Amino acid sequence: MRPMTLSTIRARDTVIAAIVSVLVLGALAAAADLIVRDVATSQTLTRTQLAGRRVSGAVRDGTLPTPIPPAEGVVLQVVGPDGRVRNADRASWGRPPVSDLRPTVERRIRDYVECGRPGYRRCMLVEAIRATTAPDSVVVYAAAPMPVLLTSGLLEVLLGAAVLALSAAIACLTWRMVGRTLRPVEEIRAQLSEITASDLSRRVPEPPGEDEIAQLARTANETLRRLEQAVDRQRQFASDASHELRTPIAALRANLEDAVMHPDDTDLRAVVEAALRDTDRLESIITDLLLLARIGTGGPAARERIDFTELVTAELARRDPPVSLCADLRPGITVHGVRMQLVRLLHNLLDNAERYAETRIEVRLTRDPEADSRLLLTVADDGIGIPEPDRERVFERFTRLDTARSRSSGGTGLGLAIARDIATAHNGTLTVEDSPKGACFALRLPLP
Ligand code: ADP
Repeated sequence: MRPMTLSTIRARDTVIAAIVSVLVLGALAAAADLIVRDVATSQTLTRTQLAGRRVSGAVRDGTLPTPIPPAEGVVLQVVGPDGRVRNADRASWGRPPVSDLRPTVERRIRDYVECGRPGYRRCMLVEAIRATTAPDSVVVYAAAPMPVLLTSGLLEVLLGAAVLALSAAIACLTWRMVGRTLRPVEEIRAQLSEITASDLSRRVPEPPGEDEIAQLARTANETLRRLEQAVDRQRQFASDASHELRTPIAALRANLEDAVMHPDDTDLRAVVEAALRDTDRLESIITDLLLLARIGTGGPAARERIDFTELVTAELARRDPPVSLCADLRPGITVHGVRMQLVRLLHNLLDNAERYAETRIEVRLTRDPEADSRLLLTVADDGIGIPEPDRERVFERFTRLDTARSRSSGGTGLGLAIARDIATAHNGTLTVEDSPKGACFALRLPLP
């Protein structure tokens, strides 16, 4: 079924090429036919006219000898009003009249083609001249056979055959050229149809060069590479998520089993409290996973104009960190976004800063000095900082550089991944920047 599609393109192009060449070549052939006919006829006519007028002049002067002096390739006859040949050139002596049309007094000279006359095998181009205006005037006929090419239709047959042969050659060439052009497309299609989600590592063949098909193959391979990466990331994420969920479930199960097996040694309150902690942890992981899945799916309708300075001020006011908190916020900076998500982003950055700061947290909000159309929010602490090689890795899901501290404080390992996804969904960026001590997170968002 599928190869049909290709051969249809091939067949369609071939048919179009054939039709166009038949039309164009046909028109050229028709024009050539007219020109050849015109040239051949006018040459023959000139010969007959010259000879005819010479003879009719001699008839009028009474100087015409018998037989009439010949003119090459021209039948010359003088025919009386009774229809009998009175004089003729030697070659035509004794032949019947070449025509029986007698020009009238008003129209003494006539040119026409006579076919099928007895005694004449070929069609003749005749010049008939009434010698005088007298009613019994003789008629001079000068006639030359028409070229066979014109009377037999041979010219049209030859031209038609040439048109058909050339059109067939053009169609054949088109068929082969389109076939050759489409061959790589067919190879790409065949390879793509074999590539399934289970084998995204395969690539389509890339023809050499820079033409459209080579670009198509490269784009297809690029798409496959990204798909493969996306599928790998999804698999990794599903496996990480299961692993993260399994840890609190295993702890919960162990506690409950222990309580069932040793009911007398069990402090029920402690067991329930531990179970609640594990449930809380499960809940926060699931809530974060759900949030991650939803970021960026709300569409523009979920967005509103937000006074970002106020938003940050309110978030800082809610907090009572054990370290000093310095804020330097430029007033009146607004953004266009989803309020809940921006609050969550701030919350995650400030939670981490509080968790790692030793003495001090600094929050700054300005216009980005590098691009005036963006805001720049930095959240810096003076904690252990993030080593240069880990500055991108910390944004990956479930990455924890400091497992003990992160787990003990209820971190799910998704906080920075969520924060970055929110920044990206708002057409912004979130990165870790250099700072003299501790970590410094920089959020850049476009201003409306
Ligand atoms: P978690 O829930 O573990 O905090 P995050 O995604 O928020 O998850 O952070 C990922 C990791 O990045 C943390 O485990 C920690 O190792 C590192 N990190 C985040 N913020 C800071 C910070 N302010 N200082 C040092 N390390 C940090």
